[in-house]
Amino acid sequence: MITFEHVSKRYPGGTNALLDINFHLEAGEMCFLTGHSGAGKSTLLRLILMLEKSSGGQVMVGGRNLSQTSQRLAPRVRQRIGMIFQDHKLLSDKTVFDNVSLPLMIAGMRYTEIKKRVRAALDKVGLLNKEKSWPLQLSGGEQQRVGIARAIVHMPPVLLADEPTGNLDPKLSEELFGLFGQLNEQGVTVLIASHDLNLIREMGQRVLVLSGGRLVDDIPAQHAGGDSF
Ligand code: ADP
Repeated sequence: MITFEHVSKRYPGGTNALLDINFHLEAGEMCFLTGHSGAGKSTLLRLILMLEKSSGGQVMVGGRNLSQTSQRLAPRVRQRIGMIFQDHKLLSDKTVFDNVSLPLMIAGMRYTEIKKRVRAALDKVGLLNKEKSWPLQLSGGEQQRVGIARAIVHMPPVLLADEPTGNLDPKLSEELFGLFGQLNEQGVTVLIASHDLNLIREMGQRVLVLSGGRLVDDIPAQHAGGDSF
């Protein structure tokens, strides 16, 4: 589903954010991306979203070579990807329902269909009873779950998350990772950037380790629970 072949990214200022990155993520796989701050995690995700272009190598997503894809087609690529940010970017003057429905409204979907899909997404994250609430009436964990509902409402085959538990306490973080696990069990390919090593170990999934822009380890799922990183 996602393949990086000899991918590098050099920012205009001269920073080599990624150097010769190679990995392949199968459809339906769940994987964590870890490494210290500045290791290149966000840059890697931004390449998949076409928010940045690689300086060298090939980025393939769902069979499409992004290095050869015009920026004009970026919205089409992003339609197949759900993205979750640390600060969830909810609109405070819109209800939970309206926040989650936004991607579908933009896509011009009929209201009856929107209603069905928004309710299904809110149900998946356990917030069906909060559809009329305002974001500020929710706890941090609930707000983050609304962000996830919004990211999955158009049923993308790929879900990316950039430090999704950054502002949450350990218990809520664990719940959130559990939710990602459930979505993965339903067939979604999941890639989560996080530096929460304890939680990542508990999940027992594959882990890609970045350091200084290089992929220094690729720990398979069955080994990730040990002391290997
Ligand atoms: P992480 O997500 O692991 O913290 P980033 O991908 O954000 O790492 O950053 C990797 C490196 O690229 C860092 O040295 C950072 O300063 C640099 N960087 C990130 N974004 C930009 C940018 N827009 N312009 C120049 N340098 C950047």
